[in-house]
Amino acid sequence: MTQTYDTVVVGGGIIAAAAGQHLAAAGYGTLLVERDDYGSGTSSRTSRLQHCGLGYLSAASGSIAAFLARPRSAIECFSLMRRAMRGRAEFVRTAPERVKPVTFVVPLTRENAIPRWKARLAFRLMAASDGGRVPLDLQILSAGEARAHPALQGMAGLDGIHGAMTFTEYQYCWPERIVVDTVMKARAIGMEALNHTAVTALARDGDLWRVTLTAAGGSRDVLARAVVNCAGVWVDEITALAGAPHIRRNTGEKGTNIVVRLPESLRGIGFETVTAAGAPFYLIPWGALHYAGPWDSASDGRPEGFRASEAEIAAILDQLGRLFPGFGLRREDVLYSWAGVRPRSLARDGKGPAPAVREHDLTDEGLPNLFTFTGGLLMTHRDAGRRLRRAVARRLKPSGPPRPLDTASPPVEDMDRVTQASVAHAVLNEQARTLSDILRRRLSVGWEPDLGLRHAEAAARFAAPHLGWTSEETAAQIACFIDETVTEFGLRWPSPDLACRNENVLMK
Ligand SMILES: Cc1cc2nc3c(=O)[nH]c(=O)nc-3n(C[C@H](O)[C@H](O)[C@H](O)COP(=O)(O)OP(=O)(O)OC[C@H]3O[C@@H](n4cnc5c(N)ncnc54)[C@H](O)[C@@H]3O)c2cc1C
Repeated sequence: MTQTYDTVVVGGGIIAAAAGQHLAAAGYGTLLVERDDYGSGTSSRTSRLQHCGLGYLSAASGSIAAFLARPRSAIECFSLMRRAMRGRAEFVRTAPERVKPVTFVVPLTRENAIPRWKARLAFRLMAASDGGRVPLDLQILSAGEARAHPALQGMAGLDGIHGAMTFTEYQYCWPERIVVDTVMKARAIGMEALNHTAVTALARDGDLWRVTLTAAGGSRDVLARAVVNCAGVWVDEITALAGAPHIRRNTGEKGTNIVVRLPESLRGIGFETVTAAGAPFYLIPWGALHYAGPWDSASDGRPEGFRASEAEIAAILDQLGRLFPGFGLRREDVLYSWAGVRPRSLARDGKGPAPAVREHDLTDEGLPNLFTFTGGLLMTHRDAGRRLRRAVARRLKPSGPPRPLDTASPPVEDMDRVTQASVAHAVLNEQARTLSDILRRRLSVGWEPDLGLRHAEAAARFAAPHLGWTSEETAAQIACFIDETVTEFGLRWPSPDLACRNENVLMK
């Protein structure tokens, strides 16, 4: 008998995880299917900011003329800011162990100086959006105070600075684990989830969808009353599998970050500005290091989009050099880098990205009960889950009773260490199948400054009996993990700068 679900969720990034959790909690019999590991796609390549939405507000509040020329886009930006603030408050409340506050400094230079009243008004608007539940701690510094601020030492044009703003942003340091946590919470309330399994075909079968699942062991079909397509930058490929390649909702935008060591005066402090092209540019603390970026360019979901190119690294270094010429950073100072392709909603005219973050019900376009999500962000993922649940509910009733959304999961022991117990837990209880699954997405050691290389052998040895790896397979897993670290992250290894420092950047 082919198994029938209310909903099959395609993908295992943050949006799929949130959708699966909300659908399962509403009583929908749900299967989530991820072709790689949970949280290994774009969700693992972000700038890790649960930001307050200030950027949306400045985009929406340019000039009256700009507002009148594109009112829809400005209103969209206001609504994104509101959702960012609400998402921030909700996430800080529901997952305090996964976020930490970081003070950010924004220099007010000749190019971006805004009157104090305008800054205060913007922050009042933002605070009103979440009812002031998670404070923003705005401070506006005078020119003299800004010139003396430790984080601005070495900045170009410091003498002519008009002042600075400081405020609290939140950083979610470990997005991969946030995805795994969400999938595990959903499994605890009845959702089924398969990683390392791809959706390879979708076809109508009477009133249902026939979904073909392909894993290393072969293919099988399941049936679903609805399909919720949360494949991120690959959503249009899934729609094409369902026989509608002409329906396009996504466009990709590549973003790159580099990891460098900055002077001690900046330790633990974030820095935010905009590039000459008007794009946000951050220096974000990362343990004793910082990452800088993002640098954006158009891209689709091909593998090269998930690696920083030399041109992108050079562009970030150039930007850093313009901001802080005193740092004198060169290519050899880049310890590693990461890149990813953001799923962005395609504008209605089909030309370029739009700021929208939204669900699409494709029923009226010939794909009954097929839903997609575009432009999804990690920081507003719970809102995405709710929107998708509501979209499904407009078409289908759940077959089961509602369940609690946020089950309290028992703390995972030794999550920050490689031990027999922590590796066994990752494999036996949390579906880890590869060394990368274990080291980067179940245990935090994959984000130590050497990206987990020093733990590869021990973790592989502990995992082998549980996963039935032969000695050749164990060696192949280690080789694969090293290759991923060097190819995907461009880690300079061995690096004298990193070798002596094994502090775990995810530890508070
Ligand atoms: C450089 C950069 C910086 C960013 N900074 C931030 C930030 O600071 N804050 C923030 O909130 N957001 C940020 N984002 C955006 C955010 O990371 C993404 O928008 C979000 O992670 C998208 O999640 P997703 O679930 O839609 O996609 P993904 O995480 O990519 O998940 C989609 C999944 O679908 C799977 N899939 C694809 N095809 C199939 C198939 N046929 N079968 C089964 N599975 C399939 C993929 O393997 C993938 O895991 C940033 C993004 C980038 C690139």
